[in-house]
Amino acid sequence: MSGAAPEITVVIPVYNEEASLAALYARLYPALDALARSYEVIFVNDGSRDRSASLLREQFERRPEVTRVILFAANFGQHRAILAGFAYARGRYVITLDADLQNPPEELPRLVAELDAGHDYVGTIRRQRQDVAWRRWASRFINMLRERTTRIRITDHGCMFRGYGRPIVDAINLCSENNTFVPALAYTFASSPTEIDVRHEDRSAGESKYSMYQLIKLNFDLMTGFSTVPMQLFSAFGFAVSALSLLFGASLVVRRLVYGPNPAEQGLFTLFAIAFLLIGVTLFGLGLLGEYVGRIYEEVRRRPRYIVGAVLERPPAPPP
Ligand code: UDP
Ligand code: MG
Repeated sequence: MSGAAPEITVVIPVYNEEASLAALYARLYPALDALARSYEVIFVNDGSRDRSASLLREQFERRPEVTRVILFAANFGQHRAILAGFAYARGRYVITLDADLQNPPEELPRLVAELDAGHDYVGTIRRQRQDVAWRRWASRFINMLRERTTRIRITDHGCMFRGYGRPIVDAINLCSENNTFVPALAYTFASSPTEIDVRHEDRSAGESKYSMYQLIKLNFDLMTGFSTVPMQLFSAFGFAVSALSLLFGASLVVRRLVYGPNPAEQGLFTLFAIAFLLIGVTLFGLGLLGEYVGRIYEEVRRRPRYIVGAVLERPPAPPP
């Protein structure tokens, strides 16, 4: 590689993947070697508590000329790991990949071909998803919701197997938000996005690092991070409810004037119905407002997104 920027950088976040790493090396490096282009692989160890870090160190020693390892000081999450990889990436193309081999490395050349064709963002759609049913349904629902609230069109947002051109990576490196979803952020900067079908496999080993809670959080990030439509929708809903309540109140007054009071009913149940509806709306609004305020809080704190404990790489060759 001789210190010059490689053509392709592969960024792989790693969190407790000791069971997958050997198989990943065995398939990833041959696939990249077969491309016959200069490349580097950046592993970002996201504070794994298993043997992942030492396995990465071993791989670095085996292929130091094409391997770089960023060791986080703690667990900061998949997207921050990818952002760190972007900050260190030198390639003209940057491709992100999961460590669990759900994205077959053999499909890499097809992403590279799309980037060669001039696309600056290459998304992927998993041909047959090898995921449990609730994950499939959850992502279908969330895709629909997101497409309606943001201008981001990503068919399969769950798949992190993507390629980015250098200008996109530079733009992402300028962003400083804490809670983000890398493909969506990239998409907002892309001038010529495209998507291709890829194979999708079962997790090679270990288990998913995402709980239901994290999935919900990620998708909340996606929506609130890229649009204020949820807040606007909520205001519109609140406005409609208030207008209807006013109309309803007016009609009650008219009825009373025309027919006189109705002693049997006394409007108790209607009142309850209205009150509960309004309480529900208020609580929902508070929650949503809290979400935005919480984000402001996080941005204002200016905490570092991640802390790098160490970087394993060959010192770049001195300039000629
Ligand atoms: N990952 C990470 N930090 C985390 C959680 C996950 O770096 O806090 C990595 C993980 O090692 C894998 C990728 O992100 O390479 C995707 O995680 P996983 O396969 O568990 O997610 P799923 O495929 O279930 O969406
Ligand atoms: Mg996975």
